[in-house]
Amino acid sequence: LSTGGSSMSLTPMMRQYQEIKATLEDTLLMFRLGDFYELFFEDAVVASRALDITLTGRDAGEAGRIPMCGVPYHALESYLERLIDHGFRVAICEQVEDPKTAKGLVQREIVRIVTPGTALANEQANRFLASFVAAGDKAGVCFVDVGTGEVLFGEGGCGECVEQLRRLAPIELLMAQGAEMPEPLARYVSEEQVVLTRRQLGAKGYLEKQYLVGQPEVLGIDTASPARTACDMALAYIEETQKTQLAHLQAPRPLFEADHMLLTQAAILHLELTATARDRARKGSLLDLLDETATAAGSRMLKAWLERPLCKKADIEARHDAVDYFYQDFILREEVREVLRGIHDMARLLARFSFGSANARDLLALAQSLRAARQVVDIVRTPAAPSLLMRIVDALPDLVPLYEDAFVQLVDDPPATIRDGGMFRDGVHAELDRLRSLQSSGRAWLRELEQSERERTGIKSLKVGYNKVFGYYIEVSKANLASVPAEYERRQTLAAAERFVLPALKEREAEIVSAQERAVAFEEGLFRSFCDRVLAASAGIQQWAEAIAQIDVLATLAHVANKRRYVRPEMVDGVGIEIEAGRHPVVEAHVGADFVPNDTLLTPEEHIILLTGPNMGGKSTYMRQTAVICAIAQMGGFVPATRARIGIVDKLFTRIGASDDLGRGQSTFMVEMTELAEILRLATGRSLILLDEIGRGTSTYDGLSIAEAVLEDLATRSERPLTMFATHYHELTAFSESFSCVRNQSLAVEETGSGIRFLHTVMMRPSDRSYGIQVARLAGLPKHVIDRAQELLLAREHAQVDVPHSVREAAATAAVNPPATQHEARLPGGNISDLALFAGPYRSFVEWLAGQD
Ligand code: ADP
Repeated sequence: LSTGGSSMSLTPMMRQYQEIKATLEDTLLMFRLGDFYELFFEDAVVASRALDITLTGRDAGEAGRIPMCGVPYHALESYLERLIDHGFRVAICEQVEDPKTAKGLVQREIVRIVTPGTALANEQANRFLASFVAAGDKAGVCFVDVGTGEVLFGEGGCGECVEQLRRLAPIELLMAQGAEMPEPLARYVSEEQVVLTRRQLGAKGYLEKQYLVGQPEVLGIDTASPARTACDMALAYIEETQKTQLAHLQAPRPLFEADHMLLTQAAILHLELTATARDRARKGSLLDLLDETATAAGSRMLKAWLERPLCKKADIEARHDAVDYFYQDFILREEVREVLRGIHDMARLLARFSFGSANARDLLALAQSLRAARQVVDIVRTPAAPSLLMRIVDALPDLVPLYEDAFVQLVDDPPATIRDGGMFRDGVHAELDRLRSLQSSGRAWLRELEQSERERTGIKSLKVGYNKVFGYYIEVSKANLASVPAEYERRQTLAAAERFVLPALKEREAEIVSAQERAVAFEEGLFRSFCDRVLAASAGIQQWAEAIAQIDVLATLAHVANKRRYVRPEMVDGVGIEIEAGRHPVVEAHVGADFVPNDTLLTPEEHIILLTGPNMGGKSTYMRQTAVICAIAQMGGFVPATRARIGIVDKLFTRIGASDDLGRGQSTFMVEMTELAEILRLATGRSLILLDEIGRGTSTYDGLSIAEAVLEDLATRSERPLTMFATHYHELTAFSESFSCVRNQSLAVEETGSGIRFLHTVMMRPSDRSYGIQVARLAGLPKHVIDRAQELLLAREHAQVDVPHSVREAAATAAVNPPATQHEARLPGGNISDLALFAGPYRSFVEWLAGQD
């Protein structure tokens, strides 16, 4: 479908349409025509399909009939939302002059462009627009949530920036026109749902313009950095689409800060901190469990804290002190939470003011929230309040005059629109009162007229009425028409009555209507200047909003600690993790009192736990609970244990066996190895690493060799990360005999007559067997399959076993210097206890090795 050839002459309006449409790129145009927003040409075809509305046509001059569809103006927002959900960008074109007074064609202009990343959404979670700029091997990112005013930026390696994209999951991603897409970004864009927008890299200087600063360095952003360009690009795009600068955008904050724990997106997902690994749903995640916040802003902040635990002891302890304060004082905590519940999402309200879409109800909601916020602060500020809370509340600006004024001036239940008046109380503005009294004296005159006309004509049922078309009129029923005086002018005939006017009535009508129009306009002006006051105070309002969110999160952590019996962890400067009777918070919430608590002990001397035990035994739960406890402790919360002593963890890594992230497209083994490489490269002596079934994605020997080599590397470094290593390679349990820093642990099972029972208790010794077949029986595999597996296993155990490194070494020695009998075979380190088991395979192995070289 063409958009209409320029050679063909179109109607003037369609030419206007095309001129406007030509300024847009890749954007639907909604064109205001009376009471409808219309779409034409290809836009109409696309939109009618997306919105499931009828495609019609319109005569467009010589071009003939062109496709058209439309939506009623009052329903615009809901249709817009649906188009945005489909990933479209939509430009709204309004009539910018009154059609009644316009000479010729009504002027039209685009007033805003709505895009997925710049639309105001009615949701509680963050909704980000992101921009990405690559410069050599570095990259910069910027994230803006226009709904809350948050602006974040960061720069680093391309991979790191993409990691942030995955974490914050923007809905729209901006990139420069023609810019090449680095590989990790291309993978991200193909895997995640994000609308990609290409824009010409425009003028610089948006940062300075938005924040009225001389140099972006003031904001902590290097002038020459790609992050700087990313910020400029995002701000330019927002101005381009909104046709205005948004006053509520906050000063940009850095994404990567030295005083935060490095927590990879893989770890966040594997630990199910904010979403479940299986279906990425919030329900079932740790966040879902902890989120008993009273406010929407608190809920967002809790998520942000959980994703970025702290790393500085003083910062962490300051939060623990504050949580403890709320934990100790039940009454104070409940009082605070009760008042918090009455506080609206102030950041989102502020956004409505900034977008110019706020009404008097929003103003009242903001005033109520500020008043309640003030009340919260008054409750919190006691002599016992810890320093963090005092720092937060002491810094807050005084906004009492602002919200008190709103209460004084606004009526209790204002209308949803600002165009019909009725927002301000009587007695606040003399001019408004005067205009209102003109209206009311006019109405009194009408009542008197009705009375006097009834008396004069003797028609008891005569009444004065009003409608939009005829204005004020006098209505007389058919039965009384004979008594109507001669000077009445007939205007309208109804089934049972006639309507008349009088010159005096029309005169008064003009007075009343004009007073009313002036009053409405006056109120709108008053409201707009109130909005300006709100915007001028926006930094202060944001500060209040942020303080309230923090108090909410701290009080919530205390509430959850109390409800779920969590304890305050002790943070220490040294390295090591000591947890007594730790629990996995989410699994515990599921199984309740059946949860079996376990200790964790990781020290610089014994920094590797090698965990064995049957599938379903609880290995993964045990490892994850240790990491989750560290994460909660460092975000400032209390932890599910009876006691915890935690040396601050700088980086937290997890890597699960490849088969667990099937369906991500990539060669899963390749992904596993790439991530493993990254972990080995980045881990320090203060890091915590969980490795679950490393090497599972390849053949047994390969996998075992890789697992062993990794273990060896971790055990022999000078900076030795705390490591929990779960494996089904039993051969690896021999490792602890040569390396004292490795401790074998396993999950207990009880052999019952008919099979096994999982005890979920962690023991300080390796497990004896893998119990795979018993687990398969529990899972309900048919009996004949189980029996056959048992047979095959027995046969295999005689024919072949996995051969660990040490045995291979022994075999190599033996190959050079063959022992006379199998009893003479001595393994270096002597760490294979059951030599007899290896007798068979050992012989064939020696022969095999001999044949190799
Ligand atoms: P593995 O990693 O050894 O295969 P998981 O850690 O996935 O085992 O645990 C399997 C199931 O066992 C979990 O879903 C949970 O229901 C239960 N479980 C694990 N640990 C415990 C525990 N400490 N107490 C009670 N139940 C547990």
